Amino acid sequence: MFQPILQNIYDDINRLNLQGKQADYIPELAKVPSHKFAINLTDISGQNYGVGAVDEKFSLQSIAKVFAFTLAYRLKADTVFEHVGVEPSGDPFNSLIQLEQENGFPRNPLINAGALAICDVLIGELPNPEQDLFDFIRKIAQDEQITYNPKVYHSEKATGYRNRALANLMKSFGRIHNEVEAVLDLYFKLCSVEMSVHTLSQTFLLYANHGRLFPTDEQILTSSQTKRLNAIMQTCGFYDEAGEFSFRVGLPGKSGVGGGIAALHPEKYAVAVWSPLLNPKGNSVKGIKALELLTTKLGWSIF
Ligand code: GLU
Repeated sequence: MFQPILQNIYDDINRLNLQGKQADYIPELAKVPSHKFAINLTDISGQNYGVGAVDEKFSLQSIAKVFAFTLAYRLKADTVFEHVGVEPSGDPFNSLIQLEQENGFPRNPLINAGALAICDVLIGELPNPEQDLFDFIRKIAQDEQITYNPKVYHSEKATGYRNRALANLMKSFGRIHNEVEAVLDLYFKLCSVEMSVHTLSQTFLLYANHGRLFPTDEQILTSSQTKRLNAIMQTCGFYDEAGEFSFRVGLPGKSGVGGGIAALHPEKYAVAVWSPLLNPKGNSVKGIKALELLTTKLGWSIF
């Protein structure tokens, strides 16, 4: 059932001639060929269906914030919410204004300020933060090859003025407990993780499967934690376009400025789509359209 629908979506996307623009504030991302498109769906029994460049790796960017938060939530349980909130920001992902007004407390873990606070938590909790975070990502992706792209990492590090500003602002409010540079370094590496849509949708199956890893059933998050994280993705996963994404697609998910989107339907499937052309809010134009077509053609959404 899924494969013909994905093929149909692929044909529709090609026909629609949708326009967008690659992220260029991270220079390395602007070099990705704009025509790339891939979609992969992993159903709840672990079966994969895909169309396009499903095995080509791309920069996860903000999608990786979900994995850092998963690890922090696992380590700290509900005390993680002493460091980040659960409210949508309604602001761009790298906005400073709200953070200043709210005394350096990030609205949620999926905006840049929130992910920086989570990197700070991980540095405080883990004996070898970088190694342990990447080992965790490899574990839930069940792929030993997963790593960050050094060119993207250096590109981000060289141009991350706004993230430096966010981290320093939080530090000034006493919200960052470790060295700002160490927090930024882990954050830039996290954002530079690469995966294919194939691996990404398999990894997101965890969130469709009550926090259990497929096929071992190892519980990574509890069922209740998974429900809560899915709620955060639903309300905060698409910058200041989370309402529009809920309205058009009706699934929890997370986007990144690399042009990826990962989403899931609890107990049914996880899906990942990639096209580097972004809309002005920073979300993949073809990615959103493809997922809108998917839930429309399937006739299922969580609503
Ligand atoms: N690394 C990007 C940044 O910090 C992530 C942005 C995103 O994907 O939303 O600006």
